[in-house]
Amino acid sequence: MLQSLLFLLVVAVAGFFAFRSFRRIYRNIHFGKPEAINEDAAQRRKNVLLVAFGQKKMFKQWLPAVLHLFIYVAFVITQIELLEIFIDGLTGNHRIFAPYLGGFYTFVIGFIEVLSVLAFVATVTFLARRNLLKIPRFTKPELEGWPRLDANLILFGEIILITGIFCMNGADVVLQKIRPEHYPDTGFLAISGWLGPLLFGGLSEGALVGVERFGWWLHLLTVLAFLNYLPYSKHLHIMLAFPNVYFSCLKPRGEMDNMPVIMNEVKGMMGLVQETENTSEGGDVPEFGAKDVFDLSWKTVLDAYTCTECGRCTEACPANITGKKLSPRKIMMDIRDRAEEIGRNIDTNNTKLISPEKGGEVLTAENYADGKSLFDYISREEIHACTTCNACVEACPVLINPVVPILELRRYEILTEATGPQEWVPMFTSVENSGAVWQMPVSRDAWTQEA
Ligand code: SF4
Ligand code: SF4
Repeated sequence: MLQSLLFLLVVAVAGFFAFRSFRRIYRNIHFGKPEAINEDAAQRRKNVLLVAFGQKKMFKQWLPAVLHLFIYVAFVITQIELLEIFIDGLTGNHRIFAPYLGGFYTFVIGFIEVLSVLAFVATVTFLARRNLLKIPRFTKPELEGWPRLDANLILFGEIILITGIFCMNGADVVLQKIRPEHYPDTGFLAISGWLGPLLFGGLSEGALVGVERFGWWLHLLTVLAFLNYLPYSKHLHIMLAFPNVYFSCLKPRGEMDNMPVIMNEVKGMMGLVQETENTSEGGDVPEFGAKDVFDLSWKTVLDAYTCTECGRCTEACPANITGKKLSPRKIMMDIRDRAEEIGRNIDTNNTKLISPEKGGEVLTAENYADGKSLFDYISREEIHACTTCNACVEACPVLINPVVPILELRRYEILTEATGPQEWVPMFTSVENSGAVWQMPVSRDAWTQEA
């Protein structure tokens, strides 16, 4: 009874704080502009099955993919045992499924144990790979500090989780022989069947019960701690990868969204339409592109929160490879960090940041004005270095598109601020004068007449 009450209290408190954190993430993602994404639901579901569930894009590098798969499948299948832990915790039972499922129960728990061992091997390998080997994509400047610690913490958490499972199952196996009335027969479990007696065989009944309860609570508390830790970690991708893949762009790679107003101007300039829209009618100077998360689509902010910080994009980026400052991973991390900064200020209701023009008593996304923007996180040098080759998009295992925010920031710089690199000016002049990027006085396709 006391244990059930304690269980209920722990789960309720952890659930409450986790709910608050996930609600905060949801709100931060919606700092971005609304964008309706709903065409071709069948293709989107297929993408979720292949890319999010099936991890299709991970298999470009098979060894990390297989190791990652061990951890992923172990995580998913272990939820069955977790479900039993929850029911046991609430009802005061012990292994409530065992008597009903018989041999199938033995198979499922044994399978979880085998997966846990494989996940343990993968975890230790990943720890060694991150900390002992100098893999270039794990040694970039954007991973200094918290991102590196975050990656290690979660791997240590995985080891704690696995330790909990084997303490719980191992001691249980021995207790089944001593107190069968309370510890129902699970059959011979694949790992604990021999590991349990080997590790705990000589212990007293009291000590065995202590080890079993320690493992049970350790497993539960690690899962609840993990749930509360996720919103602050790159491992949020284990949840967000599914919606992110579902809402990912279905257009051909590299196809850019036109800006209708600009397109109309250009068509007018090239004589393709008779009249052009007056974009500055009414005295308002139109704004193009994005300078902050409020100007990006909510999908781009979702991209940023889904980023696994794996660095596959940066590893494939020709600008980064040739020593430029650009790292598409950093672009996504910066967008998330900026959304977090805005969210924190709104949560603490920092009224000093209320826009004097918009006014209000409470700081919200609508009246937010801290005088900063994404350009305080992402330098001009970074966005200028992008060749829009889309190698980063191709490399991303969760269908994130770093090119979209890079282009939006560039559009803001060029079209709204009317600035940009001096070297680009002749190109703009050529486009304006001859409708092509080259300074050629004749029509750019005139050579075809002679061909
Ligand atoms: S599109 Fe830009 S950021 Fe992406 S890989 Fe190419 S150069 Fe790098
Ligand atoms: S954008 Fe994609 S490829 Fe790049 S670090 Fe994030 S998850 Fe990895």
